[in-house]
Amino acid sequence: MKAAAAGLAAPCAFAQTAKIASTELGDHIYLLTGAGENVLAHTGAEGVVLVDGGLAENADALAQAVAALPGSGKIQTLFNTHWHPQQTGSNQKLGMAGATIIAHENTCLWLQQNITWPWDGQKFKKLPKIAQPNKTFYDKGTLDSGIGSHIQYGYIPDAAHTDGDIYVYFPQQNILAVGGVAYGQGWPVVDWWTGGWIGGIVGGLQRIQSIANRETKIVPAFGPVLSFADIAAQAEMYGAIYDRLNQMLNKGRGPSEAVEARPAKEFEAKMGNSDAFIRRAFESQWAYLSPDA
Ligand SMILES: [Zn+2]
Repeated sequence: MKAAAAGLAAPCAFAQTAKIASTELGDHIYLLTGAGENVLAHTGAEGVVLVDGGLAENADALAQAVAALPGSGKIQTLFNTHWHPQQTGSNQKLGMAGATIIAHENTCLWLQQNITWPWDGQKFKKLPKIAQPNKTFYDKGTLDSGIGSHIQYGYIPDAAHTDGDIYVYFPQQNILAVGGVAYGQGWPVVDWWTGGWIGGIVGGLQRIQSIANRETKIVPAFGPVLSFADIAAQAEMYGAIYDRLNQMLNKGRGPSEAVEARPAKEFEAKMGNSDAFIRRAFESQWAYLSPDA
């Protein structure tokens, strides 16, 4: 998906480490890239609010990059948009420094257990207590931005990427972080092991359109900033793919047959090979729709 329509500013002069680059997206808000997946930093009189924290191996570099932002201060609050390591890698460092770590209750539950993805055997270790979210919620909340407005956050209950997906909205700048509910580039990971599914991708993209407006800059966990029109186009594409997969499910087909049928072939020129995505997306229907999954 293209970022141009969202008005992504040119990389600014504040990029200061070899790894992490920063881009000013709006007043007091910077997009930091290179830490694993996208990180948003909001600088205010009350300190810095981060949306996601990159990978643990990049936590020090990320903290340095944040400290060098104009108007920066102590990182007071960290949001985890979901439990994946690309979002939670600064939890330990910032938890030890006394930051408030906000996440959906389901994200906190996943971070309290070891996880193994059945499709590739990848293992994720539970986080130590100090690194776990220390302020969880089920529905929504607000946070004083320190610059005269309130940051709004809330649950995206469609289970697009995981069952703990959240958004964080900065109304003053009209910037909406949506974590893994939308991807800026390439096919998404359908993490059905922790609740995500293809129907949820469609539902989540529709829900983003009810939270955002036509001018909102939408920041995905991965890839460039998206416009409202990008999200609408994605919702349409995933809606078409979901319909096809659902029909195959109803005919008793399996994941390999779904991949062979190439239900996303007209999107591949733009999106890349869809085989792994289609397989996971098909499996996600089983996981979501079978009562004992
Ligand atoms: Zn993720």
